[in-house]
Amino acid sequence: MSETSILPFDDAGIARAAALIRAGQPVAIPTETVYGLAADATDAAAVAAIYAAKGRPSFNPLIVHVPDLSAAQALADLPAPALRLAERFWPGPLTIVAPLRDGTPIARLTTAGLATIALRVPAHPAMQALLRVTGLPLAAPSANASGTISPTRAAHVLRSLGGRIPLVVDGGACAVGLESAIVAVGANGLRLLRPGPIAPDALAEAAGLPIAGAGSDAIEAPGQLAHHYAPSKPLRLDATSAAPDEWLIGFGAIAGDASLSPAGDLIEAAARLFDLLHAADAAPAERIAVAPVPRSGLGLAINDRLARAAAPQ
Ligand code: AMP
Ligand code: MG
Repeated sequence: MSETSILPFDDAGIARAAALIRAGQPVAIPTETVYGLAADATDAAAVAAIYAAKGRPSFNPLIVHVPDLSAAQALADLPAPALRLAERFWPGPLTIVAPLRDGTPIARLTTAGLATIALRVPAHPAMQALLRVTGLPLAAPSANASGTISPTRAAHVLRSLGGRIPLVVDGGACAVGLESAIVAVGANGLRLLRPGPIAPDALAEAAGLPIAGAGSDAIEAPGQLAHHYAPSKPLRLDATSAAPDEWLIGFGAIAGDASLSPAGDLIEAAARLFDLLHAADAAPAERIAVAPVPRSGLGLAINDRLARAAAPQ
């Protein structure tokens, strides 16, 4: 990638963005909170390209954007309190975490292997148009390089990701300018995972349930809040061959029982990581081994996740 184009938010801009999304590329697009870097949430390689562009050193589950409540219900089992929140605050700056439905086409990399999914119906007409024209659920973290502040104008996106993504759709300044509030809806109540533009009291009131995590003591850094997927078996890193009781996840020249990428391609490896961790977990072998993956570029995020999986629970 060398040149990043900017197109105004109009029919032609959305048509170009949709064509890139269908081709598996990430595109920056405004939402009412901040600019998002959107890609097809059903295409693991496209989601891996988000991580590559942002230079994110770890895989966190991403927020999936959908056009309306019925599209959300196709992807998640939304209990009654979640439906009340959705009716009150969607479209808008609220993300709801709920159990992922079985058999959805969402890529495992999108949810970082979790059995839950974070969903939002954005209000901004540009993101709404892209969702409707593509007909796809779109995974979209903020459109900035990892560790830098969230962009609220097209110029911010260019400064941070210029040369790393093909297109920014310019819809002017974001009205809210703050990331969405994230709330997990469980059987016994709500848990605020990230404070945002909607007050915790308003969430509790609309849902008709108490909210935990809203006190100043209870908030942790967002990245630490998702409980991370880990396989149930011991996992050994940097394995060049398999012991008899191991299922080996290969990479490059090391074929293994299945390979992250026979060609040694890190985007392909990231896209296959959670699928192969689940396959290894389901295999009869008692332990998992993983071939060495280079610790650079997307390989940093892959190794971060493997190291967490290898650490005793
Ligand atoms: P970002 O990718 O920067 O927009 O942040 C997304 C936020 O959503 C992170 O804080 C994630 O931890 C959180 N998140 C996404 N999916 C889930 C999930 N399934 N469970 C819990 N938190 C989630
Ligand atoms: Mg961000």
